[in-house]
Amino acid sequence: MRTLIAGGTVVNATGAQVADVLVEDERVVALAAPGSGPAAAFAEGAERVDAAGRLVVPGAVDVHTHMEMPFGGTRSADTFETGTRAAAWGGTTTVVDFAIQRKGEALRQGLDAWHAKAEGNCSIDYGFHMIVSDVNDQSCKEMDVLVGEGVSSFKLFMAYPGVFYSTDGDILRAMQQARASGATVMMHAENGIAIDVLVSQALSRGETDPRFHGLTRPDLLEAEATRRAIALAKVAGAPVYIVHLSTTGALQAVAEARSEGQNAFAETCPQYLFLSAADLAREGFEGAKYVCSPPLRAPEHQAHLWRGLRTDDLSVVSTDHCPFCFKEQKELGLGDFSKIPNGIPGVEHRVDLTYQGVVAGELGLPRWVEVNATTPARMFGLYPKKGVLAPGSDADIVIYNPAASQTISAATHHMDVDYSAYEGKAITGRVETVFSRGRVVIDGGRYVGQKGHGRFLPRKTNDYLK
Ligand SMILES: [Zn+2]
Repeated sequence: MRTLIAGGTVVNATGAQVADVLVEDERVVALAAPGSGPAAAFAEGAERVDAAGRLVVPGAVDVHTHMEMPFGGTRSADTFETGTRAAAWGGTTTVVDFAIQRKGEALRQGLDAWHAKAEGNCSIDYGFHMIVSDVNDQSCKEMDVLVGEGVSSFKLFMAYPGVFYSTDGDILRAMQQARASGATVMMHAENGIAIDVLVSQALSRGETDPRFHGLTRPDLLEAEATRRAIALAKVAGAPVYIVHLSTTGALQAVAEARSEGQNAFAETCPQYLFLSAADLAREGFEGAKYVCSPPLRAPEHQAHLWRGLRTDDLSVVSTDHCPFCFKEQKELGLGDFSKIPNGIPGVEHRVDLTYQGVVAGELGLPRWVEVNATTPARMFGLYPKKGVLAPGSDADIVIYNPAASQTISAATHHMDVDYSAYEGKAITGRVETVFSRGRVVIDGGRYVGQKGHGRFLPRKTNDYLK
């Protein structure tokens, strides 16, 4: 089966040029000048897709999602089926989700459970990171085994005491283990011990509205934890990847470590680029829709995050997609903000939202592709299979109309959740067609994919460490 994607502007992290993309079965076989001999020869007997006036980009890679994740007696609303379908609609063709080890369990138990949830249900390819919430001799040994199975990154938490929280000693041990096997430790960097004190003090003063979620998680406690995580990684001689970085202070810590040559990396998420503490303070219980951790910050952080994306101190944009319905799920926290499930739906809108950064002049087109696709693929061992349009790469391809306009709304989105954090936001640009390994999944905005098409991706280790 051959497909010729003709005449579009092909954008990779290295630059943009008008080219035809030649696809055979599941792979890209060549890029060719439009109308050139190789393109014309290939066109015979191939399906032709006209991409004139369109951007042709590698399918985006979202390395931070939580499908059907248990949280406080409920679970995140998207299953692997609905979540990966929504991802495809938004131009994402790979997700890396977080399997969870519970305290007292083996890593293996958690990983097996996530394989069972995902297998046969995904429309696009997927991989797993492993959340380690019980660092001990056994789990350290298992970390090495999992790296061999393609689970080459491990997330630890400085937040959520009693649930996922690890002590500094646990974190150091896990980092030492990661160093030995080439794995990358991902860190939720907020000082959860101090935050819990502020939360109980607020509740005892009767401060129960959603906005107190933000006020009890001050940005200084993210910056402090980020510095501590970086110091622990330095002592261990291991790389560290800070997830969902939201503040200027934490960005400063990462930038300093990088300038000193340390393997410190960080991602941010669209909610920190486009939403703010003012959303969390919306009238009544509305603010619950915006409860996530770290919390939404004062708007002055946003310009610094965009700058970080340009300078590569922020290397990746991921979503931290963790949707909970407003009705019945977010409502668990009526009268007590600390019971509001943490998370914002986002897997469908990362490519469109970051494209608004291109429109606004914050990012160039190649950098847009790099932070959404190329760097996440390299950081988590999927490159050059994913993250680039080049001979031999998987034919995960998005045809993007840069001139289209659309409005984000829960009435039209495809995530299985009853609200949008971006309700009514006008967007320039739109995903038109999406291929996953050569197969059309989204055709002119219509889903034509198949549950079970998506395969588990065993991943190599971090490309930036070689
Ligand atoms: Zn997360």
